[in-house]
Amino acid sequence: MYCPFCFNEDTKVLESRVIDDSMRRRRSCLKCENRFTTYERATFNLQVEKKDNSVQPFDLNKISMSLTLACGKPNDEHIADLTRKVQQKIIKKKSSPIKTSYIGKVILQELKKYNKIAYLRYVSVHKEMNDPKTFEKELQLIT
Ligand SMILES: [Zn+2]
Repeated sequence: MYCPFCFNEDTKVLESRVIDDSMRRRRSCLKCENRFTTYERATFNLQVEKKDNSVQPFDLNKISMSLTLACGKPNDEHIADLTRKVQQKIIKKKSSPIKTSYIGKVILQELKKYNKIAYLRYVSVHKEMNDPKTFEKELQLIT
């Protein structure tokens, strides 16, 4: 870990705190004594296979983005919680690359439990909803 001010490598940890899924550490540089913060987060190697068969690295931000979109007026804590649940399910599947359609399914399952309006909104964005009958069917499934 380099000090961002003087690039010295020796830093002292002043404080460590777990925030959501990351570890925040306040550090102080032993040379210039400036203070800065670092975040640690667990990462894992997972590839995602898209509909057109292209493969991309798994991006948790995309999941929380689409959850945020679906939830309209999102509560950050709820989004973080939902994102975590989706991630856990995806990791449990233990396959890589994992298909985007599977990720979509997991997101739908979680949204359905959380908020039916958000669930419908997600469905209308992500499934081809050009067909009104499909939409009606989804409606019936949750009502
Ligand atoms: Zn420094």
